[in-house]
Amino acid sequence: MNALLEIRAASRKTPIDGRLEVSDATAERLSRLGEHFPLIVGHALDGGTVQRMACTCNKSPAGGGHAHNFIVAEILKTMTPEDLYMIELDADGVVRVTSAHDAATGP
Ligand SMILES: [Zn+2]
Repeated sequence: MNALLEIRAASRKTPIDGRLEVSDATAERLSRLGEHFPLIVGHALDGGTVQRMACTCNKSPAGGGHAHNFIVAEILKTMTPEDLYMIELDADGVVRVTSAHDAATGP
């Protein structure tokens, strides 16, 4: 049984830097898998890691900084910018990133 963590659009930078932004809740869940976790994008397997970066976008309330969370992996460079993807966690602790478009129009 796969748990859907979130649905997220790849950013225009994802194919360049191999980073996909995720929510705090998703980052927290993934960090429980350990420093590195298996990551499947499409049909290819890689290892992913979670990165937390201090923010420079100034959306934070006065005085308090906030952070942005990313999944980082070379394989994320195969994602299509601005396409929607489902981020799922399966029972074996494998993270799957699947095009939401493919799922909606599948066979
Ligand atoms: Zn920010």
